[in-house]
Amino acid sequence: MHYLSTRGQTRLHTFSEAVEAGLAPDGGLFLPESFPDISGKLTAWASLSYAELAAEFFQLFAPEIPAAEWHELTAKAYAKFDSPDVAPLRKLTEKTYVLELFHGPTLAFKDFALQLLGLLYKRQAQHSGKRLSVLGATSGDTGSAAIHGCSGQDGINIFILYPQGRVAPLQERQMACTGAANVFAINVPGTFDDAQRVVKEVFGDTAFAKDLNLSAVNSINIARVLAQCVYYIWAWLKLPESAREKIEFVVPTGNFGNVLAGWMAQRMGLPGCSFRVATNHNDILYRFFTTGEYLQGEVKASHAPSMDIQAASNFERFLYFLLDQDPARVREVMAQMKAGGAVTLPKPETSFRATRMSDEIIERVIAQMWKDWQYVIDPHTACAFTDMAQDGISIVLATASPAKFPEVVTRATGHEPTHPTLEALKSLPPVTTPLPATAEAVKAFIRKFQ
Ligand SMILES: *Cc1c(COP(=O)(O)O)cnc(C)c1O
Repeated sequence: MHYLSTRGQTRLHTFSEAVEAGLAPDGGLFLPESFPDISGKLTAWASLSYAELAAEFFQLFAPEIPAAEWHELTAKAYAKFDSPDVAPLRKLTEKTYVLELFHGPTLAFKDFALQLLGLLYKRQAQHSGKRLSVLGATSGDTGSAAIHGCSGQDGINIFILYPQGRVAPLQERQMACTGAANVFAINVPGTFDDAQRVVKEVFGDTAFAKDLNLSAVNSINIARVLAQCVYYIWAWLKLPESAREKIEFVVPTGNFGNVLAGWMAQRMGLPGCSFRVATNHNDILYRFFTTGEYLQGEVKASHAPSMDIQAASNFERFLYFLLDQDPARVREVMAQMKAGGAVTLPKPETSFRATRMSDEIIERVIAQMWKDWQYVIDPHTACAFTDMAQDGISIVLATASPAKFPEVVTRATGHEPTHPTLEALKSLPPVTTPLPATAEAVKAFIRKFQ
C-alpha cells in the first residue's frame, strides 16, 4: 500500500513516510492509492475489542509495520480511555444512537487519532535516530490532544499554534499545563485560519522542514483520518443487525476531517451509510452541500469553537474524488480557492445532507436534550440534533465532553458539568508563548530548541 498526493506532483510514499511528512511536498494531501475492500471482513471483526479492530484495520494500510507491533501500538493508544468500549455506542431512542468519542485523556474525539500518532512519531524517532519537531495549528481540541499524545515522548518536540483568546479557557489549560519540557503552546493573534496559514508557510519552506525534521500534526495527517475510520466501523458493528440497513452518521464538522473518515469507511465497503454534515454558524460546508458553491466567509466566534473554521483543510481529499481523481484539476481548483473566488463543484454521488445551527439554538438544544433525556451534550455535539432523518437510524458523533465547555452548558441546563481531569488542571500554572502570526517568528522559535 502506497500513498499519493492529491496534487499529483509527489512520488508515492510509504505509510511511515506519509505520516512523517504530514503535508505532501507539492502542497497536497496524502491519500491511499486505493481503498481496500473491508466488506468481507466485517463479520470476523465483530468480536474484536476496539484496540484489536484498530490494529486489524491499520494492517491493511501499513503492512510494513508487523501485525504484532500494530496490536501493541493500538493497545497502548487506547489504554488511557476511561470506558472499556473506548467508543461506547449509547442508544438514546429507538431511532437515535450517540457514539461517545470523548472518553480519551483530553475528552474530545481527537484523542482517537492523536494518542496513536504520538506513538507512531516516537517509533519513527527511534528508527531514524533523529529528533522530530512536530508542528500544528489548533482551534482548541487538536492541540490539546496532540500535546497529550506527544508530551514526555522521547525524541519529539511539539509546537502548537492557537489563536489567542479564541480557544476555551480549559482547552488552553490542557495545552499549557502539561509541565512537559518537550511541549510548546504558542498563542498568535487572529483566528484559527491565520494560525493554520502560518503552519502551512513554515512547511512551505522545504529546506527548513527537512533540516528540522518537521512533521505536521493537524487534521491533515493521513494517520489521523485513518484512525478515525475505525470508530465508524466499530459503531456499525455494535448496532443490532436490524438497525444496520439505513444509517445516517451525523457529524459535527469544521475541518471536514471527521466526516471524511466516515465517507472513506463507506468507500471501503461499510454498507448502509449516509452522512449529515452539521456545522455551526461558520457554514461554508453547509453552503457547499446545499448549493454546490464553495466560498469562504469570515470566521465568527461561536459556542462551538473547534468548528470555527472557513477553510476546511481536509476538504481537498474529498475534492480529489469529486474531480474524478484528476490532480491537475485539484491544483486548478485549489488555486482558485486560494485566490478567494467562489468555486462551483460537481455534486457528490454519496448522499450528504447538511445542517447548520446558530449559537442561540445550540443553547436551546442542550437545554432540551437535558430536559427530555437527562443527557448532557457539549455545544459541538448539539449542532447534530436538528432535522433528524425520517427513516432508518441516526448515529450522532458526540465529539467532546460537556465538561470542556462549562459556561454554555451550565447556562443551558442549570448544572455545571465537571470532570476530574479538568478539575486537576485548574490549580496548575499555564505556560504559553506569544508570537507574531508569521512564519519567520515561528521558525526562529523552533530553531531555538533543536
Ligand atoms: C475538531 C472538532 C470538531 C470538528 O472536527 P473536524 O474533523 O475538524 O470536522 C468538532 N467537535 C469537536 C469537539 C472538535 O474538537
